[in-house]
Amino acid sequence: MNMDINILNSLGAALYRRLISTVYPPRCVLCGSPGLNDMDICEHCYHDLPWIESACLQCAIPLANHSGDQLKCGQCLRKAPVFDRSVSLFSYTEEAITLVHRLKFNEKLAYSRLLGSMLADAIDNNNIELPDCILPVPLYKKRLRQRGFNQSLELARPIANRFNIPVDVHSVKRVRDTQSQTGLDKKQRRKNMRAAFEVVEPVSAQHVAVVDDVVTTTSTANELARILKRAGIRRVDVWSIARAV
Ligand SMILES: [Zn+2]
Ligand SMILES: [Zn+2]
Repeated sequence: MNMDINILNSLGAALYRRLISTVYPPRCVLCGSPGLNDMDICEHCYHDLPWIESACLQCAIPLANHSGDQLKCGQCLRKAPVFDRSVSLFSYTEEAITLVHRLKFNEKLAYSRLLGSMLADAIDNNNIELPDCILPVPLYKKRLRQRGFNQSLELARPIANRFNIPVDVHSVKRVRDTQSQTGLDKKQRRKNMRAAFEVVEPVSAQHVAVVDDVVTTTSTANELARILKRAGIRRVDVWSIARAV
């Protein structure tokens, strides 16, 4: 009996959410105020987000000063990563962590729509050359089963729709369940990611954009870029919601 009520409740909640989004204009996912333009965030919360104002063109790490375009960080100048260009929206602060956490564990639809469309805006506003396809960072099958969806794929969808670019979910597989990167130094992280992915189908694209929720270190992006380039792709970009320093 209890179970039936739970099912009814969750059905009711889902139906209610759908009805609300159809009947009412977008509402802020953070505070419930009316949404800015067509987004599920209000003007106040939008401006309060930890936007990265100036960043390294190649790895998107936030840079302190506004020194114009064509800027790379010291790390990329010393030893360039394998990927070519990055776009990231937020510094990895508490607010950004909350948004990404909710994308992964709460209402994935509202959050992927919001975060994906904000990422699409940033790509548009920065005149980023569009790729031939978007490649969400694949999850290992056990993780996918546990979560039920891949948050990177959910983020990629609104971007793909906006620019009319295909999403590639078949060419690359995560073949190893990598341990958490937390607490590992740079060298250990690189080692941890080695052989984590495999290109399992030929990719015809010349230019690919990898989409990830958070770029903590660049080891995941770098490993993906490495195998994609080995498979003949010329340019690999990395698009993410948050960039940890
Ligand atoms: Zn708000
Ligand atoms: Zn950099």
